[in-house]
Amino acid sequence: MRTAELTLLNKTLSEISIRDSLTNAYNRLYFERYMEEKISNFNPDKDTLHLCMFDLDLFKKINDTFGHGAGDEQLKFVVQTINTIIDNNTILARVGGEEFILVFSSHETTSVLNTLESIRKTFEDDARHNPCRTTASFGLVRYEKGMSQKQLLKKADVCLYNAKETGRNKIVMADTPFNPLDC
Ligand code: GH3
Ligand code: MG
Ligand code: MG
Repeated sequence: MRTAELTLLNKTLSEISIRDSLTNAYNRLYFERYMEEKISNFNPDKDTLHLCMFDLDLFKKINDTFGHGAGDEQLKFVVQTINTIIDNNTILARVGGEEFILVFSSHETTSVLNTLESIRKTFEDDARHNPCRTTASFGLVRYEKGMSQKQLLKKADVCLYNAKETGRNKIVMADTPFNPLDC
């Protein structure tokens, strides 16, 4: 093969290895490496870092009622919608079946909350007009120096669980400061 073809092939392969094939969002592997780098370079005097874990609400019912294809369409819609809302300092990864993570670098908490609210509202409006669609619940954490990636994820997961338990279709943010005994 010619060098140009090999270069293109290599480029395609490295893109495939960091993306989820259904939605084209970043995959878990990419997310973990990205976070590792963000955490190790984190400077509390000038950086901010927020992680939001979200999960579609009662998604199993969408699959059961309208079929797996309809569920897949919503997963693609979720990624397309969010990509039009987030900026270049934010990444979206699909980390499980219908579970996603957003990482916001260099944003104040109010701006992150505004973006999340706009995403939440878009899904809510979509679900109101389209019976094959559903809402989402969000768990948000602001990173503090000293937290590990595992602790950050655990905290986001607890907030997400809390959002589910208290009615779904909402954003729950973790309290600060961080208490290592919580994780
Ligand atoms: P909750 O609000 O508590 O999150 O309820 P839920 O029904 O969303 O949660 P549950 O974990 O019971 O269901 C998740 C569903 O997501 C089950 C599984 O079939 C579906 N799912 C996982 N991956 C995919 C996928 O790639 N495509 C489709 N269509 N469905 C998927
Ligand atoms: Mg779900
Ligand atoms: Mg789930």
